[in-house]
Amino acid sequence: MRRSSFFLPTLRENPTEAQIVSHTLMLRAGMIRQSSAGIYSWLPMGHRVLKKIEQIVREEQDRAGAQELLMPTIQPGELWRESGRYDDYGKEMLRIVDRHDRELLYGPTNEEMITEIFRGSVRSYKDLPLNLYHIQWKFRDEIRPRFGVMRGREFLMKDAYSFDLDKDGARKSYLDMFVAYLRTFARMGVRAVPVRADSGAIGGDMSHEFHILADTGESEVYYDAAFDGYSLEQMANADLALVEELEGLYAAADEKHDPDNCPVESDQLQHRKGIEVGQIFYFGTYYSDPLAATVANQDGESVPVEMGSYGIGVSRLVGGLIEVSHDDKGIIWPDPVAPFNVALINIRPADDKCAAAADDLYIQLQNAGLDVLYDDREERPGVKFAEADLIGLPWQIIIGPRGVENGVVEVKRRATGETEELTPDAALNKVSAT
Ligand code: ATP
Ligand code: MG
Repeated sequence: MRRSSFFLPTLRENPTEAQIVSHTLMLRAGMIRQSSAGIYSWLPMGHRVLKKIEQIVREEQDRAGAQELLMPTIQPGELWRESGRYDDYGKEMLRIVDRHDRELLYGPTNEEMITEIFRGSVRSYKDLPLNLYHIQWKFRDEIRPRFGVMRGREFLMKDAYSFDLDKDGARKSYLDMFVAYLRTFARMGVRAVPVRADSGAIGGDMSHEFHILADTGESEVYYDAAFDGYSLEQMANADLALVEELEGLYAAADEKHDPDNCPVESDQLQHRKGIEVGQIFYFGTYYSDPLAATVANQDGESVPVEMGSYGIGVSRLVGGLIEVSHDDKGIIWPDPVAPFNVALINIRPADDKCAAAADDLYIQLQNAGLDVLYDDREERPGVKFAEADLIGLPWQIIIGPRGVENGVVEVKRRATGETEELTPDAALNKVSAT
């Protein structure tokens, strides 16, 4: 993509409405535009990151055996009356009345709807286990939307729902999702700590939240420092054995932590702020009972199906990743989620030799399968460098007249600031290797 034609409305100044760094940087880097409180348009730069994150989530759900479908954003109120949640959900639910006076709502989550789909088509234990997921916009009329996309009213969530004949099966489904979550977050280059979570009004004893550690997080988490000994690579390759190990370590969300009965010595206990980026939940027959979602078991008896649900805050992750990966110049994208791999910066586009060298490398980088943002604009070099640092692409390749004379380009790694002079071919190999 040529920068000269890319729609990238960056801001020079820090916007006053932003209270935390990810919100500031997302606005400044032209990723989002607020439409109304807690509701955002995703501009091309932000949209690219959102899609990258979504794709990693999708790949790990598919790997775990979940099947993707797509349910609507608008749901019938009737279904929520059946589960009893229509009135219970309260003001966070956006209720809509259609022209025929029918009650509709913009879905804040999809337990009811997936249960309805299930009960309409599945009859026998032979069709289990089953795990269905979608990646769809949700709406919750949060009382205080803030921190940009981190606590929006409209937000993108991956939500999966498992169906099993019995509790043992449901536990297996739960652990498979646990594995998928460890892999998903680690693949994005970020450490997410799984902590035991309150299962709230629904009850049940299996729920974990996954938290990115950051001072701007709205939650508090406690965990055994031994967790810090696990590498991202180990988690990116997680399996059931690793989950069993991690489950054995103490880690709890605030409401689950009892300082008087904590099994971990205080000097070994980490107490940090966290951003909740996912939650997994076993809730048994909480929805299948009232909604009469039953299957025939081996003896031909009709039993309510055992369920769990598994959410990931896809749009929240965009902000969350910036919270843990930035510096005073801007964003530092981890390679797997970066909107482009390379910023190719021609500092003298008016110079024919520079333009020819840059055009040529632009083509070669693309041929190597890399996403390149090619800054071909007539702008001062300082402006280009500042923008490249702000938008945080993992690599910068800088082409200027002196280098072109000597047959070299400058390669800069955004995360470390390290620079190196390389031939164009060597530069290509270097950036292709990540
Ligand atoms: P929170 O405690 O932050 O309000 P939650 O526990 O109510 O979140 P869940 O119902 O567990 O949220 O939803 C699954 C995931 O969706 C959360 O782990 C979070 O990452 C994301 N999410 C929830 N609410 C929002 C929101 N208002 N804006 C952006 N993402 C959200
Ligand atoms: Mg939650």
